[in-house]
This record gives sequence, structure tokens and C-alpha cells, in this order.
Amino acid sequence: MNDRLFLSSDLLAQHDFTGIFSLRHGGVSITPFDSLNLGLDIGDDEPHVQENLGTLLKTAGIPTPHQAIQVHGAGGLMCQGDGYVHQEEADILIGAKPACAVGVRTADCLPVLLADLKTGMIAAVHAGWRGTAKCIAKAAIKSLCSHGSQAEHILACIGPCIGPCCFEVDEATAEQLADSCSGAEGYIKFDKNFHADLAAINRLQLLRCGVEPHHIEHIKACTSCLKDDFFSYRRDGEQTGRHLAIVAGRRAP
Ligand SMILES: [Zn+2]
Repeated sequence: MNDRLFLSSDLLAQHDFTGIFSLRHGGVSITPFDSLNLGLDIGDDEPHVQENLGTLLKTAGIPTPHQAIQVHGAGGLMCQGDGYVHQEEADILIGAKPACAVGVRTADCLPVLLADLKTGMIAAVHAGWRGTAKCIAKAAIKSLCSHGSQAEHILACIGPCIGPCCFEVDEATAEQLADSCSGAEGYIKFDKNFHADLAAINRLQLLRCGVEPHHIEHIKACTSCLKDDFFSYRRDGEQTGRHLAIVAGRRAP
């Protein structure tokens, strides 16, 4: 049995940042949240979720991440110091250095982790189809740049999400995604229904903002296909767990 708790970003690690994407193994939550559920307020026992988070953070060696109320928007929240769950709405969490961590919860939506080589700032982005249609990757890069970053210094790791194999969308959704940035229409395929490639569209949005191709890593895995490793809202419905994608900044020297 696979007992890995998370997948890691090699690209971020090469530059002394930590980027992780939790899997569903190694936690204490019971069905249908088995077992490493990291989502609060979805019906799982809070002590279980807290224990799961503690296990994940201890294993990864990172501090408690800042989290927020995610609303499928493109708004950002600046975070500093010790992490906690903010009672504010945001789908982009930006962390200032040093030793800060920020995270977003997903179950099929795409997590994107960002880190700036020069300023040391970090960001976690929750990009579902609504966020992607709102060009949330661009909003995140703009936000970092408003705090002194330059796009060519930003590293990005695109995490696991529902793949084009499983992500069927209606025509109106397909149109909104195709209109999110120039060239995005190339990542909507029609095969009886529309299939959208969220990860590829977000990668394109990052490139359009000036992020260097060799600064983008993509951990390819379909959360709906791989039911042993991932929770999936599309596959399992509302009663399923949530993953947490976390980026942690460089430690103070
Ligand atoms: Zn799939």
C-alpha cells in the first residue's frame, strides 16, 4: 500500500523553497474522507483534520500555512508570520519572507505554487475552472510584481488536478476558458463533449505573463483517474476530502 503523504516540487527544492501537494494516504479520517483530509467544515471531524495537518507538516518539515476562505475568485491576501486560517475570502495567498508558508485546498481544482528567486516571496493559487476563466495565474503574477517581483524571476509549480481525460465541460464553460488568454482555445478539445486542460491553460497564462518556460514545473496526475492517491469532487461528489498544496519560503539565514 502506498503511504506517501505528498508529492514535492523538485524545481522549488533546487532553489531552497519547499512546495508540496498532499495525497490521501497516511491520515486518520474515515470514509468518505479517508484518510488525509485537510478540509475543515465539510463534515469531517475537526480533531482528525488537525491531526492530519500536524502529520503532514511534521513529515514535510514546514510551518503551519496561512489559509483563507476560497471562493473561486481571483482575489489575493497578503500573509506574514505564523500561519492560520484567515476568515477572509481569497484564492491567491501571498507570503512574505522569511519562513512563512501559504496553502490552498483542492479536490480536482488546480493548485499552483509560486516563488520569487530574488525577493523570496511565495504564493499559493487555487485555480479551478472559474479562477482559470478569470485568469487567476495572471492575477497572482501581477500581485507578486506589485510587491517588487519580476516575472522572469518567478518559479512556478503546477500541481495535480483533474485532467482533460476526465474534465468534461459544457459549451458556455468551454467558451469562458478559451477566452481566458490567447491560445487557450487550443487546450479545449471536442470529443462528444468539451474537455478542458486546466493545467495547460494555466501554464499558458503564466507564459503570457513572462514566466520563463524553464521556470515552470508540472506534476502531471489526474485527480479523477487516480482514486487511490487523490480525492475528486467530480468523481466522488461533495462528500470527499480536500488536499492541501503548500509553499514554504526560504528559512532565515
Ligand atoms: Zn482523468
